[in-house]
Amino acid sequence: MNRQQEFVLRTIEERDVRFVRLWFTDVVGSMKSVALAPAEVEGAFEEGLGFDGSSIEGLARIFESDMLAQPDPSTFQILPWRGDAEQTSRMFCDILTPDGQPSAADPRNVLKRQLAKAADMGFTCYTHPEIEFYLLKSDQPGPDGEPVPVDRAGYFDHVPGGVAQDFRRTAVSMLEAVGISVEFSHHEAGPGQNEIDLRYADALQTADNIMTFRTVVKEVALMTDCYATFMPKPFSDHPGSGMHTHFSLFEGDSNAFFEAGAEFQLSTTARQFMAGILRHAPEFTAVTNQFVNSYKRLWGGGEAPSYLSWGHNNRSALLRVPLYKPGKGQSARIEYRGIDSAANPYLSYAVLLGAGLKGIEEGYDLPPGAEDDIESLSAAERRAMGHSPLPSSLHDAIRVMEESELVAGILGEQVFENFLRNKQADWNEYRQQVTAFELKKNLSIL
Ligand code: GLU
Ligand code: MG
Ligand code: MG
Repeated sequence: MNRQQEFVLRTIEERDVRFVRLWFTDVVGSMKSVALAPAEVEGAFEEGLGFDGSSIEGLARIFESDMLAQPDPSTFQILPWRGDAEQTSRMFCDILTPDGQPSAADPRNVLKRQLAKAADMGFTCYTHPEIEFYLLKSDQPGPDGEPVPVDRAGYFDHVPGGVAQDFRRTAVSMLEAVGISVEFSHHEAGPGQNEIDLRYADALQTADNIMTFRTVVKEVALMTDCYATFMPKPFSDHPGSGMHTHFSLFEGDSNAFFEAGAEFQLSTTARQFMAGILRHAPEFTAVTNQFVNSYKRLWGGGEAPSYLSWGHNNRSALLRVPLYKPGKGQSARIEYRGIDSAANPYLSYAVLLGAGLKGIEEGYDLPPGAEDDIESLSAAERRAMGHSPLPSSLHDAIRVMEESELVAGILGEQVFENFLRNKQADWNEYRQQVTAFELKKNLSIL
């Protein structure tokens, strides 16, 4: 028993915690949870808790179904929304095979492998997500077939007495209570759309925080009598929900992306990292944008990127270099704007980091940046400037990913195959649908 584990056991006793939830994530990014009695926690630390891995999407095949969930004591938190009466807590778990080895199919382990690779190259990776989502009156569409948002407000609007404002205040205090620091929260551009930005943390902690965030936001929405959705594009005519993520690499205490006097103060390391992401983005888009609906966001305007490009003050770019004040070199970072709010954060951060590291290893050159609005250029201009499109559908994205040695290497064979199989099944189901659009367009005239 190590000191962190002892601390958890002591806290459970002192705070009279009645339930200890063990959390982990399947290949699609859905949270899985099992509640343990306090007396069972010590055993779970030592040996892991056995469960049927073949019943979890993408985790194990039926003939090798026994898996173990081993709680990570550094992630212990009391869950405030369950009230004081019967305290509930949670820990994230690592998934082990029956012989105690980390499971290659565990998304958390996939990210840990990339972080270990970054560490071998001398880097620590920090991330900071801006998470957008919609608040709706319910999870059912209204009479016109569209979801019903809680308000009609827009970007940065202050709505006195509004549901969204109450919601954000409760959500932010709940997040702080589980150890997640919030930097900003505001109304976003769409009706009922909100954004909450988390303070930067190392990439594994950020991924855990995103999983917790989704749970907290959904719980608080229910408490406020509304419904929160992270669906990438719930409305045809309003912006989608992105999860723009800022990345930086540190070497010890210093930001490896910063170089005083260089263009945009970007070091060669930063330029190579960006070049890696830009070159490989089409190959990993099925991971960062994993649903049929994700492509409605990428190709539906509303400041979502559709082409490979980077820029500095350019919100149509896929990668953006945010400005920071002179003397604040430590905050040098790059922002990836492609990823959406429904992505599996572990797998997505693994592929983004892996692609960036590949750029550094191979010394890729960064193509010139774009200061124009890429959407407004003609197709020929875009081609001439090297702004190729991102995949235009889940089907396209699957095809490109299937050919990617880089993504196969980052995810490992098992996750790579399970993920592609899951996405292909989604696509097959989708392409059989006769949609409301087709009926409206065609039924009465053909
Ligand atoms: N909602 C936009 C997106 O889908 C982003 C808007 C913004 O720049 O914050 O990516
Ligand atoms: Mg935003
Ligand atoms: Mg942003």
